[in-house]
Amino acid sequence: MTGAERLDHALKNGRFSHAYVFSGSEGTGTLARLAAKTLMCLNDGEKPCGVCRSCRAFESGNHPDVVSIGPDKKKSVSADHIRADVVADAYIRPYSAAYKAYIIDQADLMTPAAQNILLKTLEEPPPYGIFLLCAVNEDLLLPTVLSRCVRIRTSPLSVGESARLLGERRPGMPEGERRFYAALSGGGVQRAYELSEPAGDKTRALAIRDKVLNNLEDIENISAAEILLRAKAFEEYKDDARLLLDIMALWYRDLAVYEAGGEIFQTDIKEKILQNAAKGINNVFYVEEARARLSANTGFLLTIEVLMLKLGRKII
Ligand SMILES: [Zn+2]
Repeated sequence: MTGAERLDHALKNGRFSHAYVFSGSEGTGTLARLAAKTLMCLNDGEKPCGVCRSCRAFESGNHPDVVSIGPDKKKSVSADHIRADVVADAYIRPYSAAYKAYIIDQADLMTPAAQNILLKTLEEPPPYGIFLLCAVNEDLLLPTVLSRCVRIRTSPLSVGESARLLGERRPGMPEGERRFYAALSGGGVQRAYELSEPAGDKTRALAIRDKVLNNLEDIENISAAEILLRAKAFEEYKDDARLLLDIMALWYRDLAVYEAGGEIFQTDIKEKILQNAAKGINNVFYVEEARARLSANTGFLLTIEVLMLKLGRKII
């Protein structure tokens, strides 16, 4: 089920929680408002009906029991704002509806102090209070706040969108490189930002990718003994095993996608992808197998050895 479907299900079954985080690239505010409108609709049948007193008040933007807040001119949601318009207001019972909805747009711009103040209300919400937090990047919300909320992801950020947001925090970084971090982080901008933190003359992720490309490009043409030597050389990344496998998976994913005529993520190494594109999609599965082996606590070296022997077509 998508986030929106799960929400719809909850609304229809009357199992609405007190606090939600809507996160994703866009449409979070729309979804939050639709949820509030549905919840407050006075019609017994299909909700939201669009014609009852509540729906009409909602559409006019003047529903007395809906409070919408967002960032101020400093582009943050301050502690004072949350204290005055949410926490203090939540003590006042609804005017006409059974619920009172608080919609916080760009809730990821709440300062940590604001989040801590909101947290107390989320921990002990009034029985009629519904708190709908909209966020592009839910990673910016405190774990304590997130743990109090049902999380609805609208759609994960696309690699392009995530790369664009990363560019706002790392101006000057070439787009191809930003796309690499965005693809590795699966749309999480904070994760992409952390991955793009330089460690020495290049980031750890780029250093690992260089090593992956240097060791895998010709792997089908070397002996099994040579493959085992190369596998051993990957031990320096033992503590970053997940990242290493993510980078390998991304490499083979791009090769397979390029071959199929789709959109590659790592546009910064397009030439290399073009040269290697004939390598089959099986390699993606071999990397996934290795990931599963690591989760099952098989040792790092053995996992990498088996993986590389498969990539080199020495075993199947
Ligand atoms: Zn209605």
